[in-house]
Amino acid sequence: MKTEIVRIDEENIDIDVIERAGRIIKEGGLVAFPTETVYGLGGDALNSASSEKIYAAKGRPSDNPLIVHIAGMNALPFIVKEVPKAAYRLAERYWPGPLTMIFHKADSVPAKTTGGLETVAVRMPSNKVAKAFIEAAGGYVAAPSANRSGRPSPTVAKYVIEDLDGRVDMIIDGGQASIGLESTIIDLTEEKPMILRPGYVTEEMLAAAIGDVETDRSIIDAACDKAPKAPGMKYRHYAPKGNLTIVEGQAEKVVSYINAHIGKLREECGGVGEKADGVRTGVIATDETAVLYQADSVKSVGGRRDAEEIARHLFRILREFDDEGVQVIYAEGFEQQGVGAAIMNRLLKAAGHQVICVDDKTD
Ligand code: AMP
Ligand code: MG
Repeated sequence: MKTEIVRIDEENIDIDVIERAGRIIKEGGLVAFPTETVYGLGGDALNSASSEKIYAAKGRPSDNPLIVHIAGMNALPFIVKEVPKAAYRLAERYWPGPLTMIFHKADSVPAKTTGGLETVAVRMPSNKVAKAFIEAAGGYVAAPSANRSGRPSPTVAKYVIEDLDGRVDMIIDGGQASIGLESTIIDLTEEKPMILRPGYVTEEMLAAAIGDVETDRSIIDAACDKAPKAPGMKYRHYAPKGNLTIVEGQAEKVVSYINAHIGKLREECGGVGEKADGVRTGVIATDETAVLYQADSVKSVGGRRDAEEIARHLFRILREFDDEGVQVIYAEGFEQQGVGAAIMNRLLKAAGHQVICVDDKTD
């Protein structure tokens, strides 16, 4: 399939392009589009055949449900059985924005879109291109992140093109995603609202709007043997091609641990400076520490205290290590507070939960 790639400026939206994109969706095609979280791979949420095409284009297991994107609150009652009070309160504060809510689904939503579940995940993005596109597409766009299954989510169009060129009808390049991490998912179908995926809207922010919320234990506790409630959270995800290890602890100890291990690797695999023959190493560092590392490629995700900046850069950096053929990657760990909980959730999945704590070890 030939993929049309178009660039759109969020502040000066080309309506002709948006209408063409909307027509593609209405005719059962696929369009990748920018949102404030990450790029989405969109199809008509109310058309089973479109959802099947999304799974095929992404290489995604079909038991992993899609999020339905809407452009206005009036679209909600048509796709859900009922709208609980908590949803109105959350929508008032965080829609449009990086929050996905799960409801009991109405019959209008095909089982293919929800991976066979009786519930449906819904989000209203704030990105203006996304909003215009969803409206032009008829109001209901099913969209997972616009990456091939298992790869880091794309936050710039370059990586959407890399994964999906030839697999979708159109890719809309809207520049860099302003948030860079997928939405927070909250399940409103149980008595007590439950966070199924941490994100930019934090537990504290949700609790401030609707009172007590809990977090699905299986996503924060690696030892928990229960399956996560969001089917997608059980899959290995966000993974770079290189082997990623997170090193946690006091900054100086983290730096010396990582440098020592990189030194050892170089001795074993071809010596210093012979990068072409030896193993290529990378470090996900912070502004405070980046100059201290001796890896072939050192990338700062931002200032250690600026979780929002870290969130914005993390997925792009994982992709860049792939571009550079980095085989062994070390990452600093982050506090699991606020947005930090979402950052560590993604990083832990990318690392397949390989974590080393250097604080109480001499190694
Ligand atoms: P992505 O579209 O790549 O951001 O992934 C969507 C995430 O939402 C996956 O982890 C899904 O398993 C989860 N999800 C979507 N719909 C539901 C639902 N009805 N119940 C629970 N989790 C859902
Ligand atoms: Mg995804």
